[in-house]
Amino acid sequence: MKSQYDAFLKLITELHDIGHAQGLLSWDQETNMPAKGAAQRARSLGALAGISHERLTSPRLVELVGELSESSLSGDAAVNVREIKRSQDRALKIPRELVVELSETTSLGHEAWVEAREKSQFDLFAPWLTKILELQKRAAHLIGFEGSIYNAFLDEYEPYATTEEVGPLLKELNHRLVPLVQKILDTGTRPAEGVLDQVYPAEQQEAFGRQVLSDLGFNTEAGRLDVSVHPFCSGLGLGDVRLTTRYNESYLSDSLFGIIHECGHGLYEQGLPADADGTPVARSVSLGIHESQSRMWENMIGRSRGFWEHYLPQLQQRFPKQLSRVDVDEFYAAVNQVSASFIRVEADEITYNLHILLRFELEKALVEDDLAVSDLPEAWNEGMRRSLGIDPPTAAQGVLQDVHWSFGLIGYFPTYTLGNLYAAQFLHQARQEIADLDERVRSGDFASLLSWLRTNIHSSGSRLTATELVKQVTGEPLTSEYLMEYLESKYCGLYGV
Ligand code: MG
Repeated sequence: MKSQYDAFLKLITELHDIGHAQGLLSWDQETNMPAKGAAQRARSLGALAGISHERLTSPRLVELVGELSESSLSGDAAVNVREIKRSQDRALKIPRELVVELSETTSLGHEAWVEAREKSQFDLFAPWLTKILELQKRAAHLIGFEGSIYNAFLDEYEPYATTEEVGPLLKELNHRLVPLVQKILDTGTRPAEGVLDQVYPAEQQEAFGRQVLSDLGFNTEAGRLDVSVHPFCSGLGLGDVRLTTRYNESYLSDSLFGIIHECGHGLYEQGLPADADGTPVARSVSLGIHESQSRMWENMIGRSRGFWEHYLPQLQQRFPKQLSRVDVDEFYAAVNQVSASFIRVEADEITYNLHILLRFELEKALVEDDLAVSDLPEAWNEGMRRSLGIDPPTAAQGVLQDVHWSFGLIGYFPTYTLGNLYAAQFLHQARQEIADLDERVRSGDFASLLSWLRTNIHSSGSRLTATELVKQVTGEPLTSEYLMEYLESKYCGLYGV
């Protein structure tokens, strides 16, 4: 089997290298490309996607994967074959015509969504959403699934997770979050207004952001930070991890926490197993685990009181006029304001989950044929009343706000809240194993946490599934206990409830 595996490795390394080029073109498209370059870029990306699909499904690679799957491989070799087989199966089961139809429909559907959102008219998007759902469901049946059809969607972003497993957990979380949020909102407290929404020159924001990035352990010789409209992290390889942010001069939080968030993603990418570079083993295991790293750094560390005991004096030096009269308690309260808001991407770390859980419930009902597209806006508004007690005044502030469904991304939303659940459970475990973790954060020592994450999570790559990883690292399956415990202790303290 040795020679077959070597031949397999050679082919999948080429596939990986093609993926690198695709990633770089996409990164450039979001950061540097002039507007008029769009048409050529779309063709190049399309051509590379075609080549990649051809290689992945080439008779030789299919044959090798077949033989190797039947053999008794173990360790990294078994993982690599398993993961390539997964993507190969998907690619082989969906006929080319359906791929093309999906791509054209989502492209036009996305344009329709942009217009619908601008005019706040759901009717303009509804026929496209209906078509997108129909094509995606056709693809799901071709790929195959056990249990709910939603599993075929979820599996793409959170491999090996099932809605039968995750659904009850998310439902329970929802049950526990709603009364907590209600209690906080009932206090009517609006802490530290006017702290973050002052004028903060971008240049100083950037300098501070870069300082934090390097303090947290992001290796700038193996990565970089640029500006884009929508912040993201692009892992082009272990030695080339690219983060982006955007600076808002009249609101401090956007880039500050945006950089810490993307840094969390970047640290994970830089810590993937170097000995498996270029193979599926060295990829992140799931979007949920990826998001656990960004949210842990952004919210659980970056919005902690200890973090600001360390950083507020430095931030005050950069912004003396804006912040010299603000103390740690006030700043800590300002970066942790809870409010019932319509827009997910502006939500605080507690209510954010309620936004996600609503989308999960609705998209699951849509693909399971329990909800008609025409009833979606009302179901959305009803959900917002139920979870946050507010009624979106327009479709743009309600059902039309997110880009995901227009691109056909169904099954993606729950990974955000899974990320919060994983993060809380991992951090609870890290606290057991690192003596005085909070004290270390307070003194600006982030190396011990990073090293714990490297050893326990990053270096695992795709060797374990997300479910196995949580079990191995924390000794128990994923639960809502740790996230609730974290949120309750933090926010009950902040809001005195
Ligand atoms: Mg993220």
